[in-house]
Amino acid sequence: MEQIENKNKMLENQVALVTGASRGIGQAIAVALASQGATVIVNYNGSEERAKATVAQIEAEGGKAEAVRCNVADFTACGQMMADVIKHYGRLDILVNNAGITRDNLLMKMSEEDFDAVLDTNLKGAFNCIKHVSRQMLKQRSGRIISISSVSGVMGNAGQANYSASKAGIIGLTKAAARELASRGITVNAIAPGFIQTEMTQVLSDAVKAAATEQIPMKHFGETEDIAQTALFLASGNAKYITGQVICVDGGMAM
Ligand code: NAP
Repeated sequence: MEQIENKNKMLENQVALVTGASRGIGQAIAVALASQGATVIVNYNGSEERAKATVAQIEAEGGKAEAVRCNVADFTACGQMMADVIKHYGRLDILVNNAGITRDNLLMKMSEEDFDAVLDTNLKGAFNCIKHVSRQMLKQRSGRIISISSVSGVMGNAGQANYSASKAGIIGLTKAAARELASRGITVNAIAPGFIQTEMTQVLSDAVKAAATEQIPMKHFGETEDIAQTALFLASGNAKYITGQVICVDGGMAM
C-alpha cells in the first residue's frame, strides 16, 4: 500500500531546502514539498519553536524534515548550512529562497540601516544560498531554484523603497542565474506574490488593508497555499522547460 502511494509522489528521494520556513509562506511551501515526498530542510533564524512545529507537522503527515538555524544574510553561515546539508543527505535538489523581512517607511524617512537590513536578508540572502548550492546542482546536472519576489518588486510600492528594490533585485538575480545554469539542467524561477494572509500583512492597519484590497482585481488577499502550490509546480517535473520566469500569484494585481 505504502509503495503504491510513494510511486505517485512527485518529489520522492529529493532533498529540498526552504529558507524562512518557520511560518507563513515558507512553512506552507515546506509542507507542500514534503507532502510530495521531498525531505525538507526547514530553515529559520529566530523562531526555533515554530520551525520545530513545522517539522512536527510534516512528520505527523508522514513526511521527512529537519529544522536548521541560519541567518541567510550571513554569507559564511549559508555556506556552512549548505555544506552540512550536502554532507548529510548527499544531494540538494530544490532551493526555495523565501526568507524575507520588511522595514517600511517613506523614502524621506527611511534610515540607511533599514535599507541595508532589507537588502541583506531579502536579496543578499538569496544570492548567498544560490551561490552555495550552485556547485552541487552543477555536479548533479539538475536542480530547481525558486525565489520569492513580490508584486512590490514588479510594480514598485510607495513606502517600500527598500523592499521593492530587494524584490526587483530577486528578479534580476533569477534571470541571470537562469541563463548561467540552464545548460546544466537547473531551472531558476521567481514567484511574485501579491497580498497574502500572513504575519507580514497582519500588521498592516485596516485602512492600508482596505486600500490594498481595492488594488486587487479579485478583491481579496491570497492564502499561503496559493504560493505553496505554485512553488510545488515549479519544483516538479511538470515545470522542467520553464526557467527565468516570474510568476505573479496576486489575484490580478500586476498585469
Ligand atoms: P513572515 O510570516 O514574516 O515569515 C518570514 C519568514 O522569514 C520567517 O520564517 C522568518 O523566520 C524568516 N526569516 C526572516 N529573516 C530571516 C533570516 N535572516 N534568515 C532566515 N530566515 C529569516 O513572512 P511571509 O509573509 O510568510 O513572507 C515570506 C516571503 O514572501 C518573504 O520573502 C516575503 O517578502 C514574501 N512576500 C510576502 C507577501 C505577503 O503578502 N505576505 C507578499 C509578497 C511577498 P524567523 O522568524 O525564524 O526569523
